[in-house]
Amino acid sequence: MVISRHITGKIRSARYLVEAILLPVYFFLPWLRWGEHPFIRLDIPNRKFYLLGNIFTPQEGYYLHLFLIGMGLSLFFFTTLIGRVWCGWACPQTVFTDVFDWIGRTILGSKYGKKDASKPGKALVHFLWILVSILGALAWVSYFADPYEMINEVKSSAFLASPPVWTYFTAFFTATLYLDMAFVREQFCKYACPYARFQTVMMDANSVNVTYDFKRGEPRRKAGVQEGDCTACNLCLVVCPTGIDIREGTNVGCIACGKCVDACTKTMGKEGKKTLIGYMSETQAYQPGTKVRWIRPRSLVYGTLLLCVLIAAGTLLYNRVPLYANVLPDRIIQPMEVPGGLVRNFYNGHLLNLTFEQRELKVEVADSTLRSPVHILLGGTEKPAIQVSGNDSQDFRIILETTPLPEDNSKPTHQISLRITDLKNPNFQLKKTIPFRIPIK
Ligand code: SF4
Ligand code: SF4
Repeated sequence: MVISRHITGKIRSARYLVEAILLPVYFFLPWLRWGEHPFIRLDIPNRKFYLLGNIFTPQEGYYLHLFLIGMGLSLFFFTTLIGRVWCGWACPQTVFTDVFDWIGRTILGSKYGKKDASKPGKALVHFLWILVSILGALAWVSYFADPYEMINEVKSSAFLASPPVWTYFTAFFTATLYLDMAFVREQFCKYACPYARFQTVMMDANSVNVTYDFKRGEPRRKAGVQEGDCTACNLCLVVCPTGIDIREGTNVGCIACGKCVDACTKTMGKEGKKTLIGYMSETQAYQPGTKVRWIRPRSLVYGTLLLCVLIAAGTLLYNRVPLYANVLPDRIIQPMEVPGGLVRNFYNGHLLNLTFEQRELKVEVADSTLRSPVHILLGGTEKPAIQVSGNDSQDFRIILETTPLPEDNSKPTHQISLRITDLKNPNFQLKKTIPFRIPIK
């Protein structure tokens, strides 16, 4: 485990500010309500995702695909422009490490991370780390289980006798978070995070990243003889959480946290000079005074693709009807001809109301490839509509009947387009195409 030396400075203060905003977001987002409903929740047992008052189901998997593609392209786009800034500034791994470090430094002071720190002090640090791990694990679990229900369950007398499933997950994530923060930390970023492997391909000489101004810095001071500006104080090295030497060039282990920038700003400040390490592109390090090229083929391609995905997702969301309908021919009762030349087809339907309001849904034949008119019966009766409660589903049966004209009999299968409309809101409408079979005589 590397516990890097603490350093103060402008970047450290700015990161504290960002973390002060992010931590409440991580912890309290699942507690927020949109009206009476969850602001955000992935309800895995019921296969529903709640977001901003909307309910999404696995049948709408294309939103997930667009989300993942969008996330991937954002990763490409922002890494091309500003390097691995997500890792150093916003990733929960980094934010939580800072929280754990703050606890360690508050309790142990300058002895934090040293072997000769007092044993009771170390024990207290680990105790507080476990407490924070429990809180972190609960925060994570509450993205999947209702935190208000979790509180009620804890209060109930049956809690200890039969703990709910979320308690096992909380225990697992507590152990994971504690072990990660106490023993792995930024070594995860260096060796395990897949994003670190990507970054070298996504970045180029014009990407803004933490970079060492080797032109000014080298050759660094040796045995008191100074040629370049680097004093070889090695402060940038000892503050680095991943234990790398940024003076050796862009490194896969650099998470762009900027600690070395603050370190060098301090050292160079004593010499009355500008920092040798800063957020700049390699081109700027080679040719001081050049401006960052934000617009270049790579950023244009990623930016355009990201914009296309955003437009596609926006259009789909704008036109989305929060209703899922599935209508399948009955497997048991086959299409049949009844006396009088009438042909009947039987179907089983399933309606899923993805809103929180009750809906009265009218099912009617909108179009058909049959020449003869098609009559519809819901559940075998002339029922006008199906009632579906908010955030609920309803199974139903449909019978379609027609008296086929001679030209209809020439084709064994026809297409029927069903229109499902909310009686109170005609814009809440969905179409579904189903087959209609004429039995062979
Ligand atoms: S090299 Fe600097 S920016 Fe990169 S991880 Fe180390 S301290 Fe952070
Ligand atoms: S902190 Fe600056 S001066 Fe000190 S070793 Fe690093 S680059 Fe050189």
